[in-house]
Amino acid sequence: MNQIIDGKKFSQTLRDKVKNCVDLIKEKKGITPGLAVILVGEDPASQVYVRNKGKQTIEAGMNSYEHKLDASTSSEVLLNLIKKLNKDANVHGILCQLPLPKHLNEKEVINSIDPEKDVDGFHISNVGLLNTGQKSMIPCTPLGCLLLLKDRIGNLSGKSAVIVGRSNIVGKPMANLLLQENCTVTIAHSRTENIESVCSQSDIIVAAVGRPEMIKKEWVKPGATVIDVGINRVIKKIDGVEKTVLVGDVCFSDMAGVAAGVTPVPGGVGPMTIACLLANTVTASYRSQGLSDPEFI
Ligand code: NDP
Repeated sequence: MNQIIDGKKFSQTLRDKVKNCVDLIKEKKGITPGLAVILVGEDPASQVYVRNKGKQTIEAGMNSYEHKLDASTSSEVLLNLIKKLNKDANVHGILCQLPLPKHLNEKEVINSIDPEKDVDGFHISNVGLLNTGQKSMIPCTPLGCLLLLKDRIGNLSGKSAVIVGRSNIVGKPMANLLLQENCTVTIAHSRTENIESVCSQSDIIVAAVGRPEMIKKEWVKPGATVIDVGINRVIKKIDGVEKTVLVGDVCFSDMAGVAAGVTPVPGGVGPMTIACLLANTVTASYRSQGLSDPEFI
């Protein structure tokens, strides 16, 4: 079996499935799923993400509504826009691109989104539902990691899994998802003692740390599956020339002959995140029509 877990290829298959589901709901219910993306300010990375999200939404046959607001937008204006989108029957998913400018309260903004349209899965109701094993909107990056793991391993029940990182957007929801799959889950973080030994006993490692190439060969149990969420920009000398390159939290070159499967950076988890956003938008549109959730696994 190929060691590399190709997120780029898998995300294309997922986007094709999303498109089929979009065609089906158009035919069955006469509606087109719609995703509204709000961008406040001009952060260059956020602008790129929002552009890509809009492009892929349209490619999947859905409607894309972009709301670009000035960096000085008041909380009142932003919350009023969200209120309007919450009521708009053409909008099935709402995403407010983070980070927001400092004068805006992220928690307040996220929690003002209708939980059923919260396709990022960050609303406190969705966090609570996921934590208690109920039907929720699942945050896109952990959902993407889970899809890759299930595709590669199949049944995850009984596997030991370590998540390195305990953020609210990746580490914690990832741990909950794997718990629901009946994995034995450990969450490691910056205060974990003997982290190398904790990792080296696991069948699955999900790295979401933000430290370039932290996870080395010695950290990985032979035959383990390694999912690298990290995106780090570093300067490397390539053919004698210094270049800025993207690397993950896992030392990819170390994984040869050790891990049974590993996601590359770029081309692993990254492309899955937007594909899962599209999948969540379709799911929200199905739920709005009383249809059962589409299957993406
Ligand atoms: P955060 O900074 O919110 O969290 C990082 C976590 O890593 C924290 O829990 C922190 O521990 C832990 N950590 C930091 N240093 C160490 C260390 N030396 N040993 C063990 N644990 C450590 O990051 P995010 O979860 O938001 O993102 C993680 C990475 O994933 C980043 O590189 C980010 O760019 C990337 N990312 C990629 C996405 C994608 O689409 N592919 C989407 C989202 C994120 P503590 O809590 O103790 O401080």
